[in-house]
Amino acid sequence: MRSSLFPKTCACGRVHSREAWSLAPLLGTWELGEEVLELRNCACGSTMAIPVIQTEGR
Ligand SMILES: [Zn+2]
Repeated sequence: MRSSLFPKTCACGRVHSREAWSLAPLLGTWELGEEVLELRNCACGSTMAIPVIQTEGR
């Protein structure tokens, strides 16, 4: 179980809280089988990916 996605640290050293992540530019989503990754840009220009949290109650 991945319970600590945030804060997310970029390779440049910037730390992104959940709130900061939600405000970062959204590049799109990437479906990997059952998992969906959300791609966003850090202020340094690097692309970061975090699994989208599924809220389905199954
Ligand atoms: Zn960065």
